[in-house]
Amino acid sequence: MTHPHSDIARLASQYTPDIVRFLRELIAIPSESAGEREVARRIANEMTDVGFDEVKIDGLGNVLGRVGSGPRVIAIDGHIDTVGVGDPAAWRCDPYRGELRDGVIYGRGASDQKAGIASAVHGARILKALGMDDQYQVWVTGTVMEEDCDGLCWQYIWREGVLRPEVVVITEPTNLGVYRGHRGRMEMEVRAPGRSCHGSAPERGVNAVYRMAPIALDIEHLNGELAHGADAFLGKGSVTISEIRSTSPSLCAVADSCTIHLDRRLTRGETLERAVAQIEALESVRRAGATVRVLDYARASYTGLTYPTKKYYPTWTVEADHPAVVAAVGAATGALGRAPVVGKWVFSTNAVATCGMFGIPSVGFGPANEVHAHAPDDQCPVEHLTFAAMFYARFPDCYVKAAHAEHV
Ligand SMILES: [Zn+2]
Repeated sequence: MTHPHSDIARLASQYTPDIVRFLRELIAIPSESAGEREVARRIANEMTDVGFDEVKIDGLGNVLGRVGSGPRVIAIDGHIDTVGVGDPAAWRCDPYRGELRDGVIYGRGASDQKAGIASAVHGARILKALGMDDQYQVWVTGTVMEEDCDGLCWQYIWREGVLRPEVVVITEPTNLGVYRGHRGRMEMEVRAPGRSCHGSAPERGVNAVYRMAPIALDIEHLNGELAHGADAFLGKGSVTISEIRSTSPSLCAVADSCTIHLDRRLTRGETLERAVAQIEALESVRRAGATVRVLDYARASYTGLTYPTKKYYPTWTVEADHPAVVAAVGAATGALGRAPVVGKWVFSTNAVATCGMFGIPSVGFGPANEVHAHAPDDQCPVEHLTFAAMFYARFPDCYVKAAHAEHV
């Protein structure tokens, strides 16, 4: 059964005041990474109130709600944590009040991405209200700690068997476009050893900072070289030094170690192994006897659970003719009354896990413009919420149809 667009549009308009109220309340509950307990509870209550069939919070603290009970499992994901406020003086509004002015909602997390989760909950409510197709069930997942460790929530959901969807919609801001990929990333550390001695006679020791100096320049050069591997859709990989530090027994001594932190962005075809080998192969690294290490993430979630992982977030793309993308374009065209922009995110999302690690086709569609993410006066237009709710209500039918067409 396919839901007529006019019914979906009517309910999306009818529910818009509820989505607005819900989003404003979500913004008023601060929820930095590993501090999502209150906001998860608020979302669970909303899901229950609007008639979800099942609502649960898993061991890591993700909130998951289901409508429908068909065999095909479709997930609509939005992370529920936000970054901090930064400099409060840079804001023209209260970051934690959910102000509504001239059709725009302001506050931390408005764009990234409480608008997405608010619209998704009410998009699923539309489906439920219209009567569910018996081919699928839809899970709205409000996931934790994305800003700190993208995809960790889905490593937990997938590996622990909480949910096994066949397709995932990511509701991060796309400005109502359909996004089908982004670059991956990883964090590495390069450590060069030295030998300390009294600073008054440096020739007796080996200064680790001087050993690091040519490595730093080689990394700058390597970033330039990466331009040759540019991908037509994702662009080029990149590498930059984000921090440098050294140790010594005193400020009157030769440095006995020097460490740099690397932010590496990965384009199509670039893997963890390849990126590490690239650094290890640098002449300066070999000469300094430096070691390369991929960093670990092991912070406890608000439930107290630690679920350690490497700070490696794989690249992902889904082809433009994949049923998930075809369905998203169809759902967006219906919702917007025009063809959507099809593109990619500049930043990283939970799809590094859903698609990058586990190969679940993933596609992005979300309210708000990503330029407001992590910025002061974070914001989302109210009309985006209506369009997004329509999209989320339309996507499952479009997907089942597109996936079926693929198999005949
Ligand atoms: Zn985000």
